Order: sequence, then C-alpha cells, then structure tokens
Amino acid sequence: MTPAGAAAPQEAVWHIDAAEALVGIDPGGRGIARFIVPGSLARAAEALRGARRVAITTGFPKDGKGETDGPPGAAALARALLALGVEVVHVVDSRCAPLVACLDAGPVETADLTPGDRAAATALLARLDASHLVAIERPGRAQDGTYRNMRGVDITATTSGLDELFLLAAEPGPHRRPTVAVGDGGNEVGMGSVRGRVVGAVPHGEVVASVVPADHVVVAGTSNWGAWGLVAGLSVLANRDLLSTDDLARADVAAVIAAGGVDGVTGKAEPTVDGMPFERSLEVLRAVRAVVRAALQPA
Ligand code: ZN
Ligand code: ZN
Repeated sequence: MTPAGAAAPQEAVWHIDAAEALVGIDPGGRGIARFIVPGSLARAAEALRGARRVAITTGFPKDGKGETDGPPGAAALARALLALGVEVVHVVDSRCAPLVACLDAGPVETADLTPGDRAAATALLARLDASHLVAIERPGRAQDGTYRNMRGVDITATTSGLDELFLLAAEPGPHRRPTVAVGDGGNEVGMGSVRGRVVGAVPHGEVVASVVPADHVVVAGTSNWGAWGLVAGLSVLANRDLLSTDDLARADVAAVIAAGGVDGVTGKAEPTVDGMPFERSLEVLRAVRAVVRAALQPA
C-alpha cells in the first residue's frame, strides 16, 4: 500500500494508465483524444489517495432535469473513498440533489450559487471543509461567462454556479486546494486546463469550451467511466478492488432515473447514458475491473 503523499510505484502507474486508456475511448466520436492528458488519471488517483475530506460535485442539467451521466460516477467514487477512510461530502444544486441523494453514497450538501458571487462561494468552501474538490460532469462556464451544452445551447438559466468553487480553489492563497475534474465533452469544470485543445476538437468548441481549470483533468468517453477510472486508480494504489459490481452500477442508473434523471443526449427517462444502452457502460466497467484484478497483489 502506498502511504499518502508518496509517489506510486511505476508498476502501479502502468496499471492505472491501462485503465485510463479503457475509459478514454470515444463512443460518441467527440474528438476527446485531442484533449486527454495522458497520465492524468494516475496523478488524480494519487492526489485523492492522500485526501482527508473530498467534496464531490456533479449534475449536468438537461431540459431542466439532471442527466444520467455524473451522479452514478460520483457515487462510485464516494463509496471508494469512504471505504478507504476518506471523508466525503457531495455538493449539488437543488435541481440535481435528488439524483445524488438517492444513491446513498455519503452526505449531500444542497447548494445553489450565483456565478460570480464570490462571497457565497467562499462561505460554501469554508462550510465544506474539504481538503480536495472533485467535479464529475459538472458544467463549467465558457469564456463569455455562460454555461453551454454540447450543442452550444445556453443553459445558464438552469445551471447553478458551483464551478465558482473551482475558480476559488485555483487561486494562490487560503482557498487553494487540489482539484480533480472529470469530463467528456470540454464544457465541464476542469476543461479550462485544456481549453485550447478543446476548442479545436469539438463542434462549437470556441463557444462551449469551459475556462474553469482543475489540477488533474480526466477526460473519458462518458464521465461515469472517468469516475470508474478514478476508482480503479484508487483500487490499484490501495491493493483492493473498490469498483462497483455490475448490479450496483445498474441499480445506480435505475435509481437516478427514478429520481427524475434523463439521458443527457436523448432527454429520455431510460437506463441509458449519453445515448448509449447501459450495457455499453458495463462492458467498460468489466474491462476496467479486469485491469484492477490483474494489478492486485497477494496480501
Ligand atoms: Zn459532458
Ligand atoms: Zn456525458
């Protein structure tokens, strides 16, 4: 087991890199290969392995509801961190909070922030008392200050400014703390760190690309897969399989739909993610699990 703060042995990094490759396939043909940061998954997992308390935000609005990509990944990561003795708090806007609360993966702080309300964001950051921040499929503002979906549509009216936390955390000074972000399109929190590459890669890139940075940016085929990649990384570092079973992963998506979630591409209340049958996600989960199992050392 790697002590918190120590660099992972090279062999562990190789295994995590293998998981990174699996979750980085691009089923939607969005061009994500052009803004993947190789090695980022291992560095993100190492950062989280050393965390005291992690605040996780997720929830991407779709037609005024919340989408099925994000909350299941947030829950999977939260459960893995809790199993490792790391404290977790979810911070979610009131629209998406039911989609996280239904997954029973740690306490949920419901918070709505007005973009640019630095005082409110500062108070929230203090209240969360987190050593690390994680965003999984959470809208990050674009260059013009609006929030955009992948089609370039302005979704500012239905989006809370939780990305303000990541702007604060990036500043030198008392708010500074490590941040990890998972995205699959370039319009999410964290993608500001690779904005130049997003602009050239995705349709409407200049309009949709987020300016909100993160220290460790995990780009994946869907953001749930990226979160599973983080769990795989933690599993390798802790020498313990922390991934969800197929049944739990399936149940999570079903629960999100029962709580009002919809597919982020089709808008339908069906057990699909980004327009794909959930079986496609399970194939990725199984492949990632095989990588983890191959990495585990006898105790
Ligand atoms: Zn996305
Ligand atoms: Zn997605």
